[in-house]
Amino acid sequence: MPAIAFDNSYARLPEHFFARLSPTPVPQPGLIAVNEALADELAIDPAHLRSEAGIAWLAGNALPEGAEPLAAAYAGHQFGGFVPQLGDGRAILLGEVVGRDGVRRDLQLKGAGPTPWSRGGDGRSPLGPVIREYLVSEAMAGLGVPTTRALAAVTTGESVWRQTGRLPGAVMARVAQSHIRVGSFQYFAARDDTEALRALADHVIDRHYPEARAAENPVLAMLEAVIARHSALVAQWMQLGFIHGVMNTDNCSIPGETIDFGPCAFMDRFDPAKVFSSIDRHGRYAWGNQGRIVQWNLAQLAQALLPLLAEDSEAALGLAQTAVDGFPSLFETAHTRGFAAKLGISQVQEGDEELIVASLRMMAEGGVDFTLFFRGLTSCARGGDASQLRALFEKPEVFAAWLPGWQQRVAAEQDAAGLMARVNPVFIPRNHRVEEAIQAARAGDLGPFQRLHAVLSRPYQEQPDNAAYEAAPQPEEEVLRTFCGT
Ligand code: AMP
Ligand code: MG
Repeated sequence: MPAIAFDNSYARLPEHFFARLSPTPVPQPGLIAVNEALADELAIDPAHLRSEAGIAWLAGNALPEGAEPLAAAYAGHQFGGFVPQLGDGRAILLGEVVGRDGVRRDLQLKGAGPTPWSRGGDGRSPLGPVIREYLVSEAMAGLGVPTTRALAAVTTGESVWRQTGRLPGAVMARVAQSHIRVGSFQYFAARDDTEALRALADHVIDRHYPEARAAENPVLAMLEAVIARHSALVAQWMQLGFIHGVMNTDNCSIPGETIDFGPCAFMDRFDPAKVFSSIDRHGRYAWGNQGRIVQWNLAQLAQALLPLLAEDSEAALGLAQTAVDGFPSLFETAHTRGFAAKLGISQVQEGDEELIVASLRMMAEGGVDFTLFFRGLTSCARGGDASQLRALFEKPEVFAAWLPGWQQRVAAEQDAAGLMARVNPVFIPRNHRVEEAIQAARAGDLGPFQRLHAVLSRPYQEQPDNAAYEAAPQPEEEVLRTFCGT
């Protein structure tokens, strides 16, 4: 029996959807990590992944039986500018596996060598971004956010050259419901290839949105469902203080997962205008802009789907516009519900939206750590002393003025503390901890990576032995910038 039960539906799409090619071998593969629980969900024996044969294909030095490797074609708006041809430049899809839960998932190697879409890049990935993606994507999964997953990571024994100099290389095995993006549709729309658009939409409906098939207009139903998933996703990100950092349309997943962890980061001190990415000079992808930007990305999807929405172009435009116009209210509802829960409110009532707005303003003005604030507030709801929470603020008087209003509102709730403990994590992948894990891994020590990963697998649970991982960075530990690392 093959080690992996591949069933590769994307590889059965028309040939101009991708380029078939194998990963480029590396000199000396070495295992970094295997995600045993995820392997098990995919019915892959974790022992196989740790074996010499497993490590060989994880590094791209061999192909697992049943794989049909390919690099997918896609386009995308990068920082608002349209690039008609991007594609997998350093990722190779090995194929798809249907897991124990019946869900079909892509198995992809990132950093597996050049492809026809590498555009001058080396097709490789340094170790740092692999460690970051492994930690942050698994943390997202632990936090309950739809996300691509890390199945395994290996070092290559090969150096990659970046602006900062020579870095150790790595390959990550990534799992996603699929790697189809808004940019996948844009690729064919830009070429007026309506037949391909239709084939892709059919594939997406069958694979990700089967309920849309029964609708009067299945493509419209699919578009609406993508919009709904993304409104919930971006609201979840914001509730955790997550800043994706590079929300280009090629990084906007059609199944609605968090994808591409290049310059992403969780913020420490709350600031709605916070940006980490070194290339986001104008704050396009700042924390507080993410709802608007997702809507913009979804408008690009709607635009690409126009030829499939209706025969009459005016009618198609009307349907697309209405679907996209539905985003703000879906997002606002998810945003309000989510932040209400963080404050201990189970059912949103009149006045709660104002309380949320005032809370966020208070947090920004008062200068408080986002995660510590909500966790401290959870302790307050349990009957804890507010003075500890007050001490987290640079300007405690701003907090003191806000507190009575919250106390009054939450007094009407049955189990505010219980609700808050479920939605306010104790642990997030703090940037300085991720950076620490990366630095250590570069020096050959995987201990900090493994410890951080273990802590983040139970983010909502108090872990007294790991209390140090709760802490905000000291000023000298603070990470101010993140890099795509490409
Ligand atoms: P990203 O910023 O990771 O979303 O990547 C944008 C585009 O650049 C995608 O088409 C990637 O495949 C491509 N790309 C990024 N890094 C590399 C690299 N090192 N080699 C080749 N292509 C790359
Ligand atoms: Mg990308």
